[in-house]
Parts: sequence; C-alpha cells; structure tokens
Amino acid sequence: MKKSPQYIFVVGGVISGVGKGITTSSIAKILADRGLTVTAIKIDPYVNVDAGTMNPTEHGEVFVLHDGDETDQDMGNYERFLNTTLSRDNYMTTGRVYQSVIDQERSLKFKGKCVQVVPHIPMEVIARIKRAQEKANADVVVIEVGGTVGEYENILFLEAARMLAIGTPKSVHYVMVSYLPIPSKVGEMKTKPTQHAVRALNASGIQPNIIIARSEKPLDEKRKEKLSFFCNISADRIISAPDIDSVYDVPINFEKEGLGDLLLADMGMKRTGGERLKGWSAFAKKVHTVKKEVRIAVVGKYFDTGKFVLTDSYLSVIEAIKYSAYQEGRKPVLEWLSAESFEKDSKQLKKLSKYDGILIPGGFGTRGIAGKLAVIKYAREHKIPYFGLCYGMQLLVIEYARSVLGLKDASSREIDPKSSNLVIDTIPEQVQKLADGNYGNSMRLGEWRAKLTKGTIAYDAYKSSTITERHRHRYEVNPEYVDQLKEKGLIFSGTSMDGSLMEIAELPKKAHPFFLAVQFHPEFLARPLSPHKLFTAFVKACVKKSKNT
Ligand code: GLN
Repeated sequence: MKKSPQYIFVVGGVISGVGKGITTSSIAKILADRGLTVTAIKIDPYVNVDAGTMNPTEHGEVFVLHDGDETDQDMGNYERFLNTTLSRDNYMTTGRVYQSVIDQERSLKFKGKCVQVVPHIPMEVIARIKRAQEKANADVVVIEVGGTVGEYENILFLEAARMLAIGTPKSVHYVMVSYLPIPSKVGEMKTKPTQHAVRALNASGIQPNIIIARSEKPLDEKRKEKLSFFCNISADRIISAPDIDSVYDVPINFEKEGLGDLLLADMGMKRTGGERLKGWSAFAKKVHTVKKEVRIAVVGKYFDTGKFVLTDSYLSVIEAIKYSAYQEGRKPVLEWLSAESFEKDSKQLKKLSKYDGILIPGGFGTRGIAGKLAVIKYAREHKIPYFGLCYGMQLLVIEYARSVLGLKDASSREIDPKSSNLVIDTIPEQVQKLADGNYGNSMRLGEWRAKLTKGTIAYDAYKSSTITERHRHRYEVNPEYVDQLKEKGLIFSGTSMDGSLMEIAELPKKAHPFFLAVQFHPEFLARPLSPHKLFTAFVKACVKKSKNT
C-alpha cells in the first residue's frame, strides 16, 4: 500500500555548528524507536557536486556511503543513530541539483519549456526528497537543510520546503534549531537573535512548528514566554537543549522534553510500540559510568586550523573507537599527535610507549609521511598494537618493504613517483582517470567484497570468510611485490574476491600482538549498538597491553 508520508524539515537559526546534525539524527532516532520507518536526508548548499574533492580541514570528514557517494559527516551521524544504510538519494548539494536539472534540459526532458530557477530547482529538490522516501518506504522523512536561515545559499532549498506543503500542509513540519547566547558581560540569556531568525524564516513563507533552543544553559519559563509571543509559537513547542557532555544523551533528553509526543501529535500518528530508546539508553549510560581508561594515539595531519585542533576530519574513526571501547568496558582516551612532530624530533617517538595502541587513519598527499612511517616502525619494533586505515595500510607496506625487505626507496606513486620500488601504485583504470584530470567521484569507492584467510587476526575478528567494507582510495598494493612481502612474513589476510587486490595486511600473532591494517574504511560501518569487529579486536589488544604495563 502506498503510504502518505510525513516530512520534517530541520533548519538552523542564528549560527551554525550548534548541533543541527545531531538534532536531525536524534529526531529521526526517537521516531524510529517509536516504531516508525524513518529516513533522513542531508542538503548541503555548496556548489560542489559532492564532498569528495574538498580538503578535510575545509569540510570535515568525507563520509562514504555503500554506493560510493562521498558525502557530509552528518550522513554518518544519521546512519549511526538510525542504525541504517542510506544511499545517494539521501544526499544533495546545490551543484548536484543544478547538474541534474541541466542534464534534463539538454536531453529535452522539459519539452521546450523555459527552465527557471524557480520553480524548476525546488521541484527537483522535492523530486529527490520523494525518491528517498519511496526507496526507504518511509513513514517519516527528516530533512536537514544545511547552513542557517537568511543565507543566500539555502534559499532555494527553503523554497522547496515551503512548496512541498502546498496542498498537504498537515504532512510537512518545520523544526528550527536556534541559538540563544548568554553574553558574559550581560549574564542573561538573549532571545533576540532567535526572534530575527524566525522572522527570516517567515520571509521564506515558513513558520516553525517547533524551536529547539540551544544554549549553554537550560531555557527558563521567562525566555520561553518571550519567544512564544514574538515568534508566534506556544511555549510547549520550545524545547530546551542546553550544552551537554555526551551527544548520545540528546535523543533521551528530547523524549524527556516531550518532543516525541509533540511530533507524533503533529503528524497525526499514535505510536506506543517500538524500542523507546531502550538499547540506546543502555549504551548512552556507559559513557558516564565506565571509568577505566584505554589510551590510544591517533597520528594524522588534518588537525590544525590556525590555533584550533579540528578532530572533525576523523569523526567516524573517533566514533568507531568509542563504541568498541565502551563495549569492552573502557573509557576511550584519544590523543591527537601530529605526524610532522615526529619528523622534527625523533626523540618524540619514545612518547608512544605510554599509549595502549596507535592508529593511523586515512590520508592523502605527502605531508607528514616520514613521521607516520617512523611511528609505524616504532609500533612494529616495540610491539605496540597498531591499526592502520587505508593510507595507514599503504604506509605499513612501505615501511615493511623498506625495513624488512631492504628496499630503501620503497614508496607510493602518490608520494614519490620516481621511486624504483613503487610497492603502492595505481591500478590501470586509475591511470587513465588521472591522465584525464578526472578527480571527482573517481576513486575506488563504496562497498566491495573481500575474502579472508582462516587463522588470521582478521578472520578471528570477523568470524567470517567474506566481508563487505567501504572504500575510498586511488592506490593499491602493487601485485608485483606481494610474493616478496609474504616471504618476509607479512600476511595478506584479506584480498578482493579474485585475489588480485590486497585488502588487509597483518603480522602473525606470534610476532606482534596486533599489527594490522586495512585498505578500506571500517569506521564507516561502526554503530553505537553494533561496534565494528576489527575496532573491537584492536581495542581488546590495547586493553591487554594496558594490563601488562
Ligand atoms: N591516499 C591514498 C589513496 O588514495 C589513501 C586514501 C585514504 O587513506 N583514504 O589511495
């Protein structure tokens, strides 16, 4: 039977960066846990067709979907909170929307009509939202509009949000996530910026049904009353959302504040079934109760923006470590070490011994490579658990080729194309793409199957002979060197199904407690309620080391 779905738009007011993504994920989560089928969509207003070509310090993490779409980190939040798999249809940007309208125009899909910014662009946005709903057969679609109201960039998306309600006003709802500052000299929470934001939204023909009031502190009755009068909204529809330590508490707090009941009433739905955050609450509680630590060093380079340390670039990696650590009853303590710091001063390497494990996440380019190689060598020689992701595996192979095979100039085409021992190289299909300057959405992306060898750390972790994992890389272990590497003790415990591409490298358990790296990105599949098995194997090895030292 065809459903008559409900749509909830989440828009931002006043400033960005106050948790619109977590709010969207949490709304989706509480509704899903009331027994509804929910899907979520992220709209990014920039012109890039996807997030794939942006620098992580510019954009944060690029989250890869199973179908290979390179998207925003919020898509990762949705997948993790909803414990679901989303697709290309759940993500759009200005560039993507325009590109498809132009393609349709070029192929005469508009039958000779004049194609206009309004209504054709918002109509394409609406078509995409409906497609995502149909694909998921969703009762509810939660749509996050990037940016804040009043910005030039997201006007056409707000137009779409308004137009979708024409004729069916009861099936479209608007939630504004706003910010209420408490200026230190004034000491009082101010509602004026939110009043202006609501007016700006009104100018787009939209009245919010609910305001999520983000602030340092909880909202008092007086503030609610004020907002109620000036923003034309009843006080019970203003949800207080003060700063909290753990984002996993957000859905729980929303339910406490009555948001679930309110949304269901607005949507004309009655739901008493569902999980009601049972499993989620048990997980969220651990964040506050687990005390014993596991200390992990993450060595990377996308941390520094001016004076700030930006760990956003590795969001999924952080989350994946957390889920496994909490499962193992440990509080994860992550320290961010800049790869370059080991290049300037090799004595720094000694500091690594105080960690229970070391992780090198994915990366691109040449900066910091020498430092990462030195770290991998140290971890290998000092038997510190090491887990490498993507570039972290390519560098493990380079380090092994240099130190153990004696190939002093072993390298990757990405780092030193003139090297006579390119142990990491491009596969033929990539050679042409690079020659053509085809950089957008052209890496080995998305889900690929791999087969595992019995008796290895990888096999013992997955307990399965085939796996499916998400990829995002251009280079591979050069097949010409595989036999030599194997002869000298490196195990390729996972390969592509035809055996031609190396997916997992590890050292035998006898030689090292945990020295393993993967060509794919397992972090994209880690979920709070089902941690990733390889991350768990790594954390277990770290816990073991912490007990021995
Ligand atoms: N730079 C490497 C490649 O393109 C690794 C990519 C990554 O770590 N995601 O193959």
